[in-house]
Amino acid sequence: MLTLIWIVAVLAATLALAYFNASGLAFTAAIAVALGVAWFAHTIPGWLALALTLVFIVLAIPGNLPTLRRKLVSDGVLAAFRKLMPPMSLTERDAIEAGTVWWDGDLFSGRPNWRRLLDTRYPSLSAEEQRFLDHDVEELCAMVTDWETTQVHRDLPPRVWQFIKDRGFLGMGIAKEYGGLGFSAFAHSQVMTKLSTHSGTVAVTVMVPNSLGPGELLAHYGTDEQKRHYLPRLAKGLEIPCFALTNPNAGSDAASIPDFGIVCWGEHEGRRVLGLSVTWDKRYITLGPVSTLLGLAFRAYDPERLAGDREDLGITCALIPTSQPGVQIGRRHMPLNAVFQNGPTWGKNVFVPMDWVIGGQPMLGRGWRMLMECLAAGRGISLPSSATGMAKLAVRAVGGYARVRQQFKTPIGKFEGIEEALTRMGGNLYMMDATRSLTAAAIDLGEKPAVISGIAKLHLTERSRQVVNDAMDIVGGKGISMGPSNFIGAAYMQIPVAITVEGANILTRSLIVFGQGAIRCHPFVLKEIAATREADREQASIAYDAALFGHLRFAVSNLARTFVMGLTGSHFVGVPADVAPETRRYYQQLTRFSAALAFLADVSMGTLGGALKRKEKLSARLGDILSLMYLCSATLRRYEAEGRQQADAPLMHWAIWDAMFKAQSAFEGVISNFPNRLIAAVMRRIVFPLGRPYVVPSDKLGHEVARILIEPSAARDRLTAGAYLSTAPDNPLAQIERALAASVSAEPVEAKLKAAVKDGRVDAKLPPGAGIDVLVARAEQAGVITAAEGAAVIAARDLTAIVIRVDDFPQDLGASEMKPAASARQAPATPTVMHKAAA
Ligand SMILES: Cc1cc2nc3c(=O)[nH]c(=O)nc-3n(C[C@H](O)[C@H](O)[C@H](O)COP(=O)(O)OP(=O)(O)OC[C@H]3O[C@@H](n4cnc5c(N)ncnc54)[C@H](O)[C@@H]3O)c2cc1C
Repeated sequence: MLTLIWIVAVLAATLALAYFNASGLAFTAAIAVALGVAWFAHTIPGWLALALTLVFIVLAIPGNLPTLRRKLVSDGVLAAFRKLMPPMSLTERDAIEAGTVWWDGDLFSGRPNWRRLLDTRYPSLSAEEQRFLDHDVEELCAMVTDWETTQVHRDLPPRVWQFIKDRGFLGMGIAKEYGGLGFSAFAHSQVMTKLSTHSGTVAVTVMVPNSLGPGELLAHYGTDEQKRHYLPRLAKGLEIPCFALTNPNAGSDAASIPDFGIVCWGEHEGRRVLGLSVTWDKRYITLGPVSTLLGLAFRAYDPERLAGDREDLGITCALIPTSQPGVQIGRRHMPLNAVFQNGPTWGKNVFVPMDWVIGGQPMLGRGWRMLMECLAAGRGISLPSSATGMAKLAVRAVGGYARVRQQFKTPIGKFEGIEEALTRMGGNLYMMDATRSLTAAAIDLGEKPAVISGIAKLHLTERSRQVVNDAMDIVGGKGISMGPSNFIGAAYMQIPVAITVEGANILTRSLIVFGQGAIRCHPFVLKEIAATREADREQASIAYDAALFGHLRFAVSNLARTFVMGLTGSHFVGVPADVAPETRRYYQQLTRFSAALAFLADVSMGTLGGALKRKEKLSARLGDILSLMYLCSATLRRYEAEGRQQADAPLMHWAIWDAMFKAQSAFEGVISNFPNRLIAAVMRRIVFPLGRPYVVPSDKLGHEVARILIEPSAARDRLTAGAYLSTAPDNPLAQIERALAASVSAEPVEAKLKAAVKDGRVDAKLPPGAGIDVLVARAEQAGVITAAEGAAVIAARDLTAIVIRVDDFPQDLGASEMKPAASARQAPATPTVMHKAAA
């Protein structure tokens, strides 16, 4: 009995010490006490106590003496680790080291500091930014329709282009000292969101100069002269910029671009200057066809050592005026029927003076690092905002449509099948908007959150696709038939653009989120890798020893925490006292997920090593868990920031339940497919000791979410806040809004009519061709409804008739004007023919 008590006490104490991440010294002291008890109380046989004591002495002495520990353990492991670690190219290293770690670090730590999240300043607009949104952005939206740009101009109309330039839309992020608007990331995000609720073409046109491109690169890396010359011109739209990275042979694998520049002497403005002879073939370049300033990425070589002592200098970024002889632009691609300017550019042996390299000669070969560091703007702001904008349009329009469109004498939004899709739309949008705002807040705090911006890009564009797909299913034929009154078809066609650019989603999910997250967000992995690169042996040994043993403690602690929180349902996890009581459990559950992710990540990296990089299905699921925790954190932060709106609570609850269930499935996916089955079985017992506790959100909750979408309310307004709400008679969203308001106020009258027909007070048999007006007249005569009520029903039906109308066209649809001309241009000798051949 005494033995059993001793064993249980030892196990409980070990678990408790590990749970609280106790120091090595505390463990040593606790083991010494346990052995002391064993000796004096004879809880175990003497020979066993002796054996355990000897093992303890052998381990405890070096364990607590770092110098000895390094000699006996760490140095050997470091040597093995150096051999095992797959070689990392400079471009890989730049990609991994770029940017900063923010809340993602907490989520990977096993013990997120919720206070830190709750204390993050929630973003808001300055008075000037708000004015811009309320006036300039509204005015811009009122000037365009997607249909007109797509079908009539095949471009933005000239007066819209001019308006965009004049009002500074192309320089929102450029500092005021250079003539830009100097807006915050959040303001930029709000502008992009609103534009995307109205016109994809305007949104993309404004997006590109404000994302990764000449403006952003110049601001961070340009020489003073480059900044003084270009930034004011970009801010005022005197230059139209584009940025060209993608080559036919290097899309996702952009670091392998074959475009090249050879350092050489050349003539520029009558002088002999050092520069590069550049050859490139780029495609898909947004704004390329109308650009005046081409940002170009190419690989620089210096075979004659004119600029230094290396031949392969690496990826380099330059700004080339498109007026420079040899620069070819002007031809266009047609990106899924959207008419923002997008096309190829090419050039052969174009002389680029060294002054045109961004940052000048010292920045030769630094291009990849620059691009990786500046990616956060595009990934973290522009694409998440435009994805959220499209989802807002879909939710606002389709929620209303589902209420006014009737089939089987019932608004389709009240059928459970449609309700299910509406629920997904509402819950997803609440979470998307929360994530968009929190990510912008991080960027405004000065972060360059590499992993978080990847998460936001991937998950918001994916959810936007889900929202728009659901919207299309709900709208049916009306969504498929294109024309000025189709409010969703254009978004449906344009969603794949956001999915594909700035790191296509499959690649981002499979390779980037966890690949970068595990190294950057993990508290020790980057330190271990850095130690392997340390040239000084002593320093390397000290740094690696600290990282290795820190890592071991971290892993053991997360194992214990995962198991204990699994056993206790995480009920005892501490949460800041001031969170909304209805969300308290979510913080606890997410802390459990955090520990479990850290544990699973360590086991995966520890057992699979470099092979994990090729196990994309496993790393994608681990990345999903990290991503879903970030999305949940953003949702909880939003709920607090907006004053715990009770009417919005179903949206928040649904989004979190859904995300937690998906995270559980991702855990299950990793464990079920883990190559080592023994380890998998142990992991399952530790992560889910009492089985899988999370279930899908309930249908009742889903019903509450769907109701928010299909009737006018403050909650619906908050959910779609920032959408462009036109009052123009021919704007399809405005038509829905009018029909929705009229239908909702006519519903009680319709109910009276229905009841009167049912009990025979009004004869519902209408002569062929007779409309609702006849029934209304009979009901009025029978005293069932008043004349005003009758007028309300007829008005609602008339407004609904406008909404459900679809466009039709002459028989040729104007098709004779659309001739494909795919291979009319002569491409240059593709730069896969390497530079030496050209030289
Ligand atoms: C409308 C539009 C605008 C664009 N604008 C610009 C611009 O302004 N400037 C610019 O430089 N580029 C631009 N691009 C290019 C864009 O960045 C690329 O299309 C993108 O990088 C993907 O390259 P790809 O199309 O060649 O696809 P591929 O690289 O051929 O990829 C095909 C598929 O394979 C997947 N994949 C690739 N590698 C892996 C992997 N290791 N693991 C898992 N999956 C993988 C991808 O996710 C994708 O699903 C634009 C593209 C479009 C369509």
